[in-house]
Amino acid sequence: RANQLAAQGRDIIHLEIGQPDFQTYPHISLAGVRAIVEGQTRYTPPAGMPGLREAIAADVSVRRGIDVRPEDVVVGPGGKPGLFFPLLALIEPGRGDEVIYPDPGFPTYRAMIEIAGGLPRPVPLLEEKNFSFDLEAFDALVSERTRLVVLNSPANPTGGVMPRADLEHIAAAAQRHDFWVMSDEIYARLVYDGRTAPSIAALPGMRERTIIVDGFSKTYAMTGWRLGFAVLPAPLAERVELLLTHSVGCTAAFTQIAGIEALTGPQEEVNRVVEIYQSRRDRMVAGLNAIPGVRCQTPQGAFYTFPNVSAFGIPSDELAMRILDETGVAVLSGRGFGSHGEGYLRLCYANSLENIERALARLAAFFADLPR
Ligand code: PLP
Repeated sequence: RANQLAAQGRDIIHLEIGQPDFQTYPHISLAGVRAIVEGQTRYTPPAGMPGLREAIAADVSVRRGIDVRPEDVVVGPGGKPGLFFPLLALIEPGRGDEVIYPDPGFPTYRAMIEIAGGLPRPVPLLEEKNFSFDLEAFDALVSERTRLVVLNSPANPTGGVMPRADLEHIAAAAQRHDFWVMSDEIYARLVYDGRTAPSIAALPGMRERTIIVDGFSKTYAMTGWRLGFAVLPAPLAERVELLLTHSVGCTAAFTQIAGIEALTGPQEEVNRVVEIYQSRRDRMVAGLNAIPGVRCQTPQGAFYTFPNVSAFGIPSDELAMRILDETGVAVLSGRGFGSHGEGYLRLCYANSLENIERALARLAAFFADLPR
């Protein structure tokens, strides 16, 4: 709808899309172009080129403080294969395998659980805990039927970072009830105020039951290159390799070579962009909280705000459409991320400060006219 309106000549401010507004950093693009010119355009091993698996193993080992070997890494076209294929390998359709996942959360989680034949069990996130798990609800959901728990920290759509104490609670349950953990850490480098997002994989006894999912889309502004990976115990990696072999075949060679450059080349651009995102976040959070009736937590990571707009009593889907139609600001309804997203909106601040200012002015005028 936003694109339709833009095509009709309306001035639309796009805060709905979840991707960096920067171009892929030039040294990375050049490495990819050079690889094409040099003939790196053929099939590669299904689990990834050895050089990239080595670079990922080294990078993940240092950043997470764990010991990862290249054979624990599988590469795929984007982060999504790293979510989808391990799940497909672990879930037995018809066995009653339950998968606990965050609500509100990335919509792919529920879709992939259902496709794999698992039973989706959403766990609510608590706004007052900066959108970490409601641990009481989590404890009530866990049982011997729990096959896997999906974590996403920093999170889409809330920007929440799970505190170490919550990860320790979940890790203890994983060992008690013998379930797997899928830790989607695709926003791990986009954290603010000098923080880091702890990984559950680094807790004692968790490596052998954790799948770390990460990728290049967000960190290196490479959404369209399609490059991501999973880090998982080698026996499971072998099963995932089979699924990759018979589905995507392999990931483009030149994309992988660009990925090696991304990991082993200079990191200044990433650090600079994180600072820029942080100042945009601060502006957006302050602007939203200045609107009477809107309440917005300060997200600690990713590039989304998730303001609570329940005071206006309008269903989020309807509210998002009205905001688009009446103000030309495109935002997403929190309801699109699960039933516990009702009463919220998602706004992406991977956009210029100028556009953020313009959007805030329009939103302030829109909400001022709404009864509460
Ligand atoms: N996980 C989360 C939480 C995301 O928000 C996204 C993309 O929006 C992905 C995974 C998928 O990333 P990719 O585009 O690399 O497949």
